[in-house]
Amino acid sequence: MNLRDFDKELAEAIDNELVRQRTNIELIASENFVSRAVLEAQGSILTNKYAEGYSGKRYYGGCEYVDVAETLAIERAKELFHAGFANVQPHSGASANLCAYNAILMPGDTIMGMSLDAGGHLTHGYSVNFSGKIYKAVNYGLTDDGYIDYDAAEALALDVLPNVIVAGASAYSRIIDFKRFKEMADKVTEKAGRKCFFMVDMAHIAGLVAAGLHPNPLEYADIVTTTTHKTLRGPRGGMILTNDEALAKKINSSVFPGCQGGPLMHVIAAKAVCFKEALQPEFKEYAAQVIKNCKALAEELKKLGYKLVSGGTDNHLVLVDIYGSVGVTGKKAENILHSVSITCNKNAIPNDTQKPTITSGVRLGAAAITTRGFKEEDMIKVAHWIDEALRNQENEEVLARIKQEVIDIMAKHPYLEY
Ligand SMILES: *Cc1c(COP(=O)(O)O)cnc(C)c1O
Repeated sequence: MNLRDFDKELAEAIDNELVRQRTNIELIASENFVSRAVLEAQGSILTNKYAEGYSGKRYYGGCEYVDVAETLAIERAKELFHAGFANVQPHSGASANLCAYNAILMPGDTIMGMSLDAGGHLTHGYSVNFSGKIYKAVNYGLTDDGYIDYDAAEALALDVLPNVIVAGASAYSRIIDFKRFKEMADKVTEKAGRKCFFMVDMAHIAGLVAAGLHPNPLEYADIVTTTTHKTLRGPRGGMILTNDEALAKKINSSVFPGCQGGPLMHVIAAKAVCFKEALQPEFKEYAAQVIKNCKALAEELKKLGYKLVSGGTDNHLVLVDIYGSVGVTGKKAENILHSVSITCNKNAIPNDTQKPTITSGVRLGAAAITTRGFKEEDMIKVAHWIDEALRNQENEEVLARIKQEVIDIMAKHPYLEY
């Protein structure tokens, strides 16, 4: 029996979500729209298969076809990121980080990562996350101009001598200087008389790295983790890469049996499709357009009087100090924009005066809307809709007009209507 006939309530929720995705301007920086091919693989019968272990070394019989899927994913990931080794089994970005730490650290070891309020991720040592409970965590942040404070990070690293330095972020709009972090890790290694690993979590920027539009962390990092569903535009999942053979073995045993059981073979198949897509010349054009679109949005917001953290962007996202610009909190802005079918998320900005649940900022990303075919001129319109909505938050008429304009433009940028 098909889903619609068996479970009307659930089918309806999915239908409604499809309408929402089709009609909203999606600016959540971590989201994207996958292709039909990725959806097909992820929704495939490979979900039925148990395949604990790795290709050729499984704990279950009948793995000959899922082995093909996993090998394709691995080989394509290696080609895409110029990596000697890939583990494509982590269920998510958070799982990839858990598996990576478990491969190189012992409980009680020290992680140095970017602080959450500066744009880092929960898994980089936040107190309520496993990474801040199993390990000791210290954080670096930003300078007053909104860039990573490399000098302060180095001073901290040489003081606490962490076992791993983590670079990578969820809300940072500038190119990350991996070389600088690698040099820091080497200095710690020398001073401590034991290895300080350098790990990069490129979850947000993987698609830009794949396209050659952000420096590739594999040139410098011991270990690289990522999600596959953000700028990389694949299924929801994670991955770990390295060029170090000894580490590769540790990573494999850390993922399975260290942290996970059976791999999600349908998701791994969809990762293989995603990597094939990202290897096409069209993907490079897509990623370049993402950056152009994000810059167009950022520049127009600046013209309209908005303050941006670090003053702009090099990548797919921009952090806007909404409270400091128009006196609307991040939470309120998220709600107002939602009411006109523009989706984004509130986000803390450096030295935020608002509570973490309220915030002063919003994070805007261009990856998803670029997949829908938006170009620079459309992003300029988006900036004006955002500005108008925030300045007319009590004016139902203006809000209704903006919402209609949003629906009209999205009707010209269909999703999965072929
Ligand atoms: C999104 C993100 C993650 C976590 O990915 P999930 O798949 O949501 O677990 C990890 N690290 C960074 C930097 C991220 O932005």
